[in-house]
Amino acid sequence: MTVTIETGSGTRTGLSRAMARGFVGRCPHCGQGRIFGRFLKVQPDCGVCGLELSHHRADDLPPYIVIFIIGHIVGYFLLETEMNYDVPLWFQLTFWPLVTLLGSLALLQPVKGAVVGLQYALGMHGFAKLPVSTTGDIEETQHGPDHGHAAGGASA
Ligand SMILES: [Zn+2]
Repeated sequence: MTVTIETGSGTRTGLSRAMARGFVGRCPHCGQGRIFGRFLKVQPDCGVCGLELSHHRADDLPPYIVIFIIGHIVGYFLLETEMNYDVPLWFQLTFWPLVTLLGSLALLQPVKGAVVGLQYALGMHGFAKLPVSTTGDIEETQHGPDHGHAAGGASA
């Protein structure tokens, strides 16, 4: 699944690399600029390569993914401890909500970054256009089935 195009600033980064860069809070295009200004506040654009990050439409997907991940982890271990160990109820009622809360907060930003990377790599929304490279040419994406889809409110 690692189809990564490793080239200069004019070419779109591959899906897995773009998502990995987003996961660690870096710009999916150049891998250097920071995506987030604050906790979940995406910067309007990359300070290094100029990629317009305001095009992202992460919306509800990051929390959905976080709930999916955390729910499976916590649900599994909660049942495991309940069935295999004699743990007091107060422990179950304090420990697991705490793990859920902290785990969700920890995952939310990386997952949102990865979603932004995903939308960038697929050329979704305003990401169809890449920032102007040093050679001055703007490259358009090859795969963008959603032209005009949900991009009405975008600044484009
Ligand atoms: Zn960048």
